[in-house]
Amino acid sequence: MTHRAIIVGGGIAGLATALRLHQIGWEPLVLERAPCRRSGGYVVAFSGIGYDAAERMGVLPALTERHITPDMMVYVKPDGDPRFTVPGPTVRAMLGPRALNILRGDLEDLLHAARRDTVEIRFGTTVTAITQDDHGVEVSLDDGTVERAHLLVGADGLHSTTRRLAFGPEDTFRLDLDHMADAFLLDRLPSCVEAGTTATLTDTGRTLAIINLGADRSAAFFGYRTNRPMADLAEGPTTVLPRVYGDMAWAAPDVLAQLPDAGSVYFDTISQVLVDRWSRGRVVLLGDAAWCVTLFAGFGSSLAVAGADLLGTAFARHHGDVLARPGRLGEPTPPESGTETEARSPGPGPLCPRRPGSAVVARSPTAVRLVPTGVGPDPAQTSARSVIRERASDCGGGPDSPQYCAVA
Ligand SMILES: Cc1cc2nc3c(=O)[nH]c(=O)nc-3n(C[C@H](O)[C@H](O)[C@H](O)COP(=O)(O)OP(=O)(O)OC[C@H]3O[C@@H](n4cnc5c(N)ncnc54)[C@H](O)[C@@H]3O)c2cc1C
Repeated sequence: MTHRAIIVGGGIAGLATALRLHQIGWEPLVLERAPCRRSGGYVVAFSGIGYDAAERMGVLPALTERHITPDMMVYVKPDGDPRFTVPGPTVRAMLGPRALNILRGDLEDLLHAARRDTVEIRFGTTVTAITQDDHGVEVSLDDGTVERAHLLVGADGLHSTTRRLAFGPEDTFRLDLDHMADAFLLDRLPSCVEAGTTATLTDTGRTLAIINLGADRSAAFFGYRTNRPMADLAEGPTTVLPRVYGDMAWAAPDVLAQLPDAGSVYFDTISQVLVDRWSRGRVVLLGDAAWCVTLFAGFGSSLAVAGADLLGTAFARHHGDVLARPGRLGEPTPPESGTETEARSPGPGPLCPRRPGSAVVARSPTAVRLVPTGVGPDPAQTSARSVIRERASDCGGGPDSPQYCAVA
């Protein structure tokens, strides 16, 4: 019997899950709400359990080909003069072994290429209702059709519809950290940014970063503090970013001018997702929908691929028995462990310091990134990540571990 899975969301988690389930003989169907592929984004770190998973799934060589390091990282003052620079070889050395930096869009692209001709994706489609019984899960779609499968995977990101329908209202699970982030590909490199560099301007409560990787390959990243993240989200980037960055000099005017025509713009709240289970019967959450660690953690894509690999390996081990037995993937660290308390005490964000002007480049476990001195990494941005890591090591950290287990 061929097992069928419906995957809601065609981002990194959804595509990786489709690929992994196809590898174990399942028939996945991906539903993506957007009318076409969302291939935008800035640089993401890819390391740890994500790197290991990519290796097992056979996509590591393609990932490694897309690894990037800038010739130079430049941190500029508000007037555009360099504050300090980090040469490319130092950046490479700080990244360490078994770790990559890649454009999020390149990761999306290679996962698409890997599933091509094997997995159907329905764009412009989403889920409106979910019912499940002993034999399967029935999913009503917004085009009026109904699909039935053995498993439904909610890989539809931070504001997951699947989670809302199967687990409850979003407010119950989303912890806003009072920042917003935006990333998109640029049509042209602002003239004040040198080719081959990553250039960053951080001042009070806001950052603008630009990376260039050669002709027609530049991306911009905005990150800023706000006390009204959901209101900003509702207003949208073309309204909010000119308001927040309108008085910033350097490359800001040029980048803002490119925003209205940019394709695949990412604009979202910096939030964590904290749920007490990652599965309800035949409905499983994966990626940001399950454990969003925030974009500032820079580890969401690694965790998404790792989660997809864990899920596929668990089902292979249990011969596709979705309800095999309660499994650790479905049981994140409960609140009483202290993790939730830690996560609910957000401190200042490392990319948007309260005190401007002082910054160091630090090597975090996940990425080479900028950390303002005297502030330090935000525990709220790392705690959920450690939950996932504990989960992964609980599950054995590899497909051969006897502790690998199914989701129920
Ligand atoms: C365009 C884009 C750019 C990004 N850029 C960066 C970046 O620069 N740096 C970084 O650290 N992270 C970035 N991220 C987030 C990063 O990709 C995720 O944190 C991580 O890869 C986990 O991915 P995910 O698939 O769980 O969630 P996401 O990447 O958010 O993907 C979720 C997918 O589900 C789709 N979707 C949402 N709701 C529904 C629904 N109801 N029905 C069907 N489909 C739905 C979305 O359109 C999206 O394609 C970006 C995400 C996107 C979508």
